[in-house]
Amino acid sequence: MTVTRNIVIGVLSLQGAFLEHSIYLKKAIANNENKYLNYSFEVIEVRTKDQLEKCDSLVIPGGESSAMSYIAERTELLPSLYKFVADESKSIWGTCAGLIFLSKEIINGLENQRCLGGLDIQVNRNAFGRQIDSFEKKLDFSEFIPDCKDFPTVFIRAPVVTKILNETTDDKQLIKSENNYQNPAPVEVLYKLHNYHGDNELIVAVRQGRILGTSFHPELSDDYRFHQWFIDEFVLKTCK
Ligand code: GLN
Repeated sequence: MTVTRNIVIGVLSLQGAFLEHSIYLKKAIANNENKYLNYSFEVIEVRTKDQLEKCDSLVIPGGESSAMSYIAERTELLPSLYKFVADESKSIWGTCAGLIFLSKEIINGLENQRCLGGLDIQVNRNAFGRQIDSFEKKLDFSEFIPDCKDFPTVFIRAPVVTKILNETTDDKQLIKSENNYQNPAPVEVLYKLHNYHGDNELIVAVRQGRILGTSFHPELSDDYRFHQWFIDEFVLKTCK
């Protein structure tokens, strides 16, 4: 008899492009039924502590990181998010605002904006400029996603990872995470954007063990290979 493991993937749905993530996750699952015979998946929207506690994995969408943080604080979800980030049996992926929310230090953060401290990185909000400076670009991710050579990425007021942190900096201007958690895994740089307006090495995708962060929005690309990879490489390999 085959045992079916039920896996719950939550999408933080306080603000931003949460609906798109749910759709892409469901597509990736539905199109690979044969691969996932031993699993049953549920994709749920997360707004409360009870919903978060059901999840094996969490996706934090793009949107506006300060708004997301304020809503999380006002709805008292923030302590549960800190706890979720610190739980080594959970996988997490943040896209754009989600990457900012997962970081340890924010440049250009707004007053009282919080971050979850799951990734030992410093990020610069709105690093490419304003909404009008948003762009799309096909990128080759085949070094970490098999055969993924021409992935259509979308950057909208996107952040850049400005530093991999060995220890926190003492710059008082920065927003710093108050989560008392240290991710034991090393930070791996997955992708650097080259030759963007002369700055030729901008970090836009990182992984620290079970936590993934991307500056761009794979949920707006009409291509669910990134979601597929997240399920295979993070969700299934992390859950107990
Ligand atoms: N600039 C936004 C922020 O600070 C992120 C933009 C996005 O998620 N597309 O949260």
